Amino acid sequence: MSASSSAGGAVLVLNAGSSSLKYQLVHPETEEVSAEGIAERIGDHDSSITHTQGGKEVVETRAMPDHLAAVEFMMGLFAEGGIDLSAAGLTAVGHRVVHGGRTFFHPTRITAEVISEIDRISTLAPLHNPANLVGIEAARELLPEVPSVAVFDTAFFHGLPDSAATYAIDRGVADLHAIRRYGFHGTSHQYVSEQAAVFLGRDLADINQIVLHLGNGASASAIAGGQPIDTTMGMTPLEGLVMGTRSGDIDPGIVLHLNRVAHLSVDQIDTLLNKQSGLKGLCGENDFRAITEKMATGDASARKAYDVYIHRLRRYLGAYMIELGRVDAITFTAGVGENAVSVRADALAGLETYGIRIDPQRNEIRAKHARQISADDSTIDVLVVPTNEELAIARQSAAVVAGS
Ligand code: AMP
Repeated sequence: MSASSSAGGAVLVLNAGSSSLKYQLVHPETEEVSAEGIAERIGDHDSSITHTQGGKEVVETRAMPDHLAAVEFMMGLFAEGGIDLSAAGLTAVGHRVVHGGRTFFHPTRITAEVISEIDRISTLAPLHNPANLVGIEAARELLPEVPSVAVFDTAFFHGLPDSAATYAIDRGVADLHAIRRYGFHGTSHQYVSEQAAVFLGRDLADINQIVLHLGNGASASAIAGGQPIDTTMGMTPLEGLVMGTRSGDIDPGIVLHLNRVAHLSVDQIDTLLNKQSGLKGLCGENDFRAITEKMATGDASARKAYDVYIHRLRRYLGAYMIELGRVDAITFTAGVGENAVSVRADALAGLETYGIRIDPQRNEIRAKHARQISADDSTIDVLVVPTNEELAIARQSAAVVAGS
């Protein structure tokens, strides 16, 4: 990251969670990041902000009762570093919004009507959309002159084929309650699949890809010629792969059993499946670095968590290879995908008969840029492509403002 004397033309990207606010000031064309940071534990007495600007990181602890206070505090830190956000000539504030429901398929300029529609859709994403909205309201209040744009995590998957988007439940109930598979992490899957095509020097429209976004949340997608044909997350981000704290796929009968027999309430089951399951539920850790360290000491629960994680990943990999018919590239991204050498090796081990051959030396290389980790004689190219959701949101936001 380099210092910037002017933030003119930049986009302030905000990703508001229930008690956090991640932000980045990035120029959509030069890709220059002027500053970035995260406010955490908003609403608690010990809330803090970590802010990096001009190569200098500051960590400040201060009570931030709400997101408005967090945005205000963030703006003060920008000002201390020489950037007055309200007078900097920002192109836009770009907001990550998790669920666009059946309404939003494109990045959308935020108006009062858009806010009330995002609010209406909140029933589909009660853990995410209300938090996103709080961030939107705070930015609109403190930066009223700057256009704000919502970029939806579901948008990329809007065109999923009906057969992939439909749950086999009563049609009347499904239609009434907007129950279908929406998919999430769309900004990342789109960005990474485009970057993979650029890296390979191939036309996006000509290649079939599997993208494995493995972070604390995790999802896979099958993309044919730039169009997603399947993805692992569904109506909510709970479906699919094993994640840091989310279960991924389970038999829905388990939910009924937990309610009827274990007498857990809906909210308790929600917390169990979203916050206390996945890797954390299996071994007490949701960070792969800790799991790897525990495995090295012979810890059986860490080993089991790892094995379940890899098993689920391979199951979807196999499914997507069949769905796509021909696969040109498999790409790993996000925190685990970009860094966990053993996950990449184990996910693709023994698949030489399917044209997949990892080069162990290439797989060991740690880098921040896109790279190939397959051997030259691998029929399918295996890549690591760092995701950059902030840049993608900035570009999409700037495009909306330019077009409106
Ligand atoms: P993300 O949600 O994309 O920020 O990914 C966060 C996750 O990436 C963390 O919870 C870790 O499990 C994982 N991660 C980050 N760095 C490493 C690393 N060097 N080795 C293994 N896993 C990592």
